[in-house]
Amino acid sequence: MQPQYSLVIPIYNEEQTLPELYRRIGAVMDRMDGQVELILINDGSRDRSLTIIRELHQKDSRICYLSFARNFGHQIAVTAGVNFARGQVVIILDGDLQDPPELIFDMIEQWKLGYQVVYAQRTQRRQESWFKRMPAYIYYRILRHLADVEIPTDTGDFCLMDRCVVDILNKMPERNRYIRGLRAWIGFKQTAVKFERDPRFAGDVKYTFTKSLGLAVNGLVSFSKVPLRLSTYLGLFAAFVSIFMGLLVLYWRIFYSSSVLTGFATILMAIFFLGAVQLVSIGILGEYIGRIYEEVKDRPLYTLSEVAGFERKHHL
Ligand code: UDP
Ligand code: MG
Repeated sequence: MQPQYSLVIPIYNEEQTLPELYRRIGAVMDRMDGQVELILINDGSRDRSLTIIRELHQKDSRICYLSFARNFGHQIAVTAGVNFARGQVVIILDGDLQDPPELIFDMIEQWKLGYQVVYAQRTQRRQESWFKRMPAYIYYRILRHLADVEIPTDTGDFCLMDRCVVDILNKMPERNRYIRGLRAWIGFKQTAVKFERDPRFAGDVKYTFTKSLGLAVNGLVSFSKVPLRLSTYLGLFAAFVSIFMGLLVLYWRIFYSSSVLTGFATILMAIFFLGAVQLVSIGILGEYIGRIYEEVKDRPLYTLSEVAGFERKHHL
């Protein structure tokens, strides 16, 4: 029988959290008003996570799992989980209990009111350092201005999606995945439920600075062509400045016989400025070309070393 609800949770080195995660998710699943499957995706963990996941699967038949052959990253892990989900409704949440599972009931309530996407929106990031909050705050606001679709601010991947949205998401082949953006792009009736983000239950943050930065760049580049245009603007600006300086020099030459513009400083500045503009432009171009290259290679999104709990065959 098809489950009504699928819960998708990516797991990367979460051995310390898994037992508590199961306790809290289990309690929520018991109270849900339909058949539930819990899909855990082991994203190439190097600790005992996979062993614990296997044990949980033995103990509780509602738990299915996928195991990647290596670490592919959070967005790809979520994608795999969503690919395999069989429910009429798919709910994505983090494995570190920062997304309170109890909020699922509020999401389901909204779904029953006719919304196809219900995303969780943070009102507060408790105990996350200012150092992490501030860039996130600025980033989401820049993204909102630049992106082609309206990506709601302060939302993560914690959300509920109806089958009609999930089917479309599954058809999107891109590998530089920014799920919260794709979700917004798909459309349908979407709404938010507010929540306070809890601190991580145990263990370290798995999103390193580089990974977070990568995700942030992904969001911008995948959903906006404004950065490309930026180099045009910068180039125009540099051209304007040089014309202005040329006229200035001409003016000085004509009206003041002695040359005012002497010395290296001016020349050096001009060279550095132009060099910087060109390098930045090439860099921006590179971001887009690199992505084209990635997409063109058309490799599978992930490799699986173990799959359990799904009776039905899936396309891998
Ligand atoms: N995660 C993953 N692969 C990775 C990094 C993270 O599957 O390469 C999982 C991790 O186990 C957790 C979720 O993604 O369930 C969110 O990670 P984390 O809490 O480190 O990120 P943040 O809270 O900063 O978004
Ligand atoms: Mg977290």
